[in-house]
Amino acid sequence: MFFSEFTCNRCQAEVRYSIRSWSYRLADDIECTLHASRVWCNDCNTLRSAEYFPTMDYLKAKIERLRGGQLPEWEVEYLSQRGMSKKDLDEFAADLLKEATVYLGLIEARQSPPRCLECASTNFVRIPERPDVVDDYFEHPGCGGTFHQTQQGRGRQSEYPTYDAEGNRLNDY
Ligand SMILES: [Zn+2]
Ligand SMILES: [Zn+2]
Repeated sequence: MFFSEFTCNRCQAEVRYSIRSWSYRLADDIECTLHASRVWCNDCNTLRSAEYFPTMDYLKAKIERLRGGQLPEWEVEYLSQRGMSKKDLDEFAADLLKEATVYLGLIEARQSPPRCLECASTNFVRIPERPDVVDDYFEHPGCGGTFHQTQQGRGRQSEYPTYDAEGNRLNDY
């Protein structure tokens, strides 16, 4: 788990945001990764993560690559250096293909818009990610001040929240 903390320069509010591993749990206990990005949730009235849906074109292109048994070159290199055999790599690619196909089906069948992962609200504003910026910041909605990053670090993830296909949380964390 990776976390960031921010303090508003006007009202001194402090907010904390953490990136976890989230997943969907579907019928027959099939799980697949839930993609999320940071948002300001108007119902939680704080910084949260919300589902993020890649485009169908992106997902289809990814499946096409994996169907040809292709892993990204950097990934093959990385995994080979860590002792993964050709057979392991093929199995890994097959697993990725299975997951990408499940995920595509989920996005295709999806009825509701992306939801806040905390309260399931769809009423939020995305806060652009700035992975390369040292002093991350964003506007405090409704306040007029600006949140500036005060701390960031890594923590241990103790819970692995799961969601149904419509983005509603299945377990507590
Ligand atoms: Zn403020
Ligand atoms: Zn919320």
